Amino acid sequence: MDITDDVTIRSWDGTWTYRPKVLVTPETPEDIVEVVKSVVRFPSPVRPAGSMHSTARMNGDDGGTMVDMKAMNRILKFGEDSVTVEAGATYIVVSNALKERGLQFHVTTEIGNVTLGAMATAATKDSSFPGGYGQISSYVSAMRFVTPSGDMRVINERDNPEEMQVMRSSYGLLGIVYEVTIKVRPTTALSVRHHSMAVADFRKRFPVYKAQGFAVMYYIFPYVRRVLVELRKDNPGVQPVSRRRWTYRNRFWRKYGPAITLWIKARTTNRRLREAADKLHFFILRQGLVRVVRSDATWPHAQIINYPRDPGPYKYLFSMWAFAERNFFKILDEYCDFVDAYDKRTGYRCDLPCVGYSIVQDREALLSYSWEGPTLSIDPASTGGKEWEEFLRAYNEFCSARGGQPLFNQTPFLTREQAQKAFAERLKLFADYRRQADPENRLLDSYFRDLLS
Ligand SMILES: Cc1cc2nc3c(=O)[nH]c(=O)nc-3n(C[C@H](O)[C@H](O)[C@H](O)COP(=O)(O)OP(=O)(O)OC[C@H]3O[C@@H](n4cnc5c(N)ncnc54)[C@H](O)[C@@H]3O)c2cc1C
Repeated sequence: MDITDDVTIRSWDGTWTYRPKVLVTPETPEDIVEVVKSVVRFPSPVRPAGSMHSTARMNGDDGGTMVDMKAMNRILKFGEDSVTVEAGATYIVVSNALKERGLQFHVTTEIGNVTLGAMATAATKDSSFPGGYGQISSYVSAMRFVTPSGDMRVINERDNPEEMQVMRSSYGLLGIVYEVTIKVRPTTALSVRHHSMAVADFRKRFPVYKAQGFAVMYYIFPYVRRVLVELRKDNPGVQPVSRRRWTYRNRFWRKYGPAITLWIKARTTNRRLREAADKLHFFILRQGLVRVVRSDATWPHAQIINYPRDPGPYKYLFSMWAFAERNFFKILDEYCDFVDAYDKRTGYRCDLPCVGYSIVQDREALLSYSWEGPTLSIDPASTGGKEWEEFLRAYNEFCSARGGQPLFNQTPFLTREQAQKAFAERLKLFADYRRQADPENRLLDSYFRDLLS
């Protein structure tokens, strides 16, 4: 295994800097055992890292050990309805391999860089299909991992349902996962449509979309109180043929959206002019998505985007909170008021469209963001900067006051009070479980020590 001392390493886009005493890249499960057991050579906390695409700072403490899982990235076995991979394999690579075999993941995220080890143990999502799960880790049926004391363990959903439920929300605190088995299904063409509407109309139409069996994702344009709704549904009657239309959308997310926004910012000193230019940019975007990204025979795999490391200034940053479906539309109105008031008070506006996902109830992962029932999320997005980070702190307060559910990996600047309010007894249960599994705190970093204390 590769071992380097005293390194500086940054998250994918450079938002977070880490200075681990040791950066280690295991190639076998035995390497991970050695790392976890050798307390002097590999100082605590020992924290696994995937692609480091989490928006929260959660890949370890300065002076500790970072375990880069990306060298363990082999696809080990394709089954009829599952695939088994090493934990450092990325979603987009495995998805492409599934495609060649007529298979697909149950949930196709926007992000392709997420590693399967992170996906098995942290919170990830896309808009849910009725009858599915809300959190992707819930599709994980078995895991192999090295425990905090350095033993190898295998668990699966049939023999260890409770342990699987806790592991699916364990964020590397209960063990370093080296192998994941996740359920897959035959490839089915997707029917995709986009509709642009006022926020008030979205409230009226949402129950209809749900009743019609659509997975509902949306872009929110709070300053003009409009929503662009993306509806997806399986279309088993046809062969998938369309890929390009997703490609246009993906390019917007990955590059052109941030690039145009920054181009406007650089060329407009007059605030009113900039707002008008942003408005025009987003109007064209909505029209483009409605007219172009529509097909009854889309490849589901094509939705997944590669966000490479070091994207330069053209980066897409976001934070996420989920809200109970029954309260969501009132909170969405309040969110539009909140960003207007924040703009008036500070002069700051989020410079990319906010997004959101409708997510079904899911109790297969202990710290699920839809434990109590179906949720809808509000995920503000931006090209980043100090003012964005200040906005996020205020946004966290807004959401916490309204009973929102954060995601430990996708909600930066979360406070202990906000985490405890959101997860209450479940967080206590998880903290107790963790204490028993890791009494020496071998895998516990300061981020989780604070949130769980
Ligand atoms: C541009 C962008 C777009 C995104 N789009 C989406 C999206 O569409 N849907 C979505 O759900 N999320 C999205 N995300 C968020 C991202 O998927 C999650 O934050 C995910 O956890 C990142 O995975 P990673 O491999 O980078 O893990 P990391 O960020 O490196 O780690 C996340 C957590 O998992 C733990 N971990 C990592 N590997 C292991 C392992 N082998 N064993 C045990 N624990 C481990 C880490 O310790 C850490 O606690 C997006 C992020 C970005 C930056």
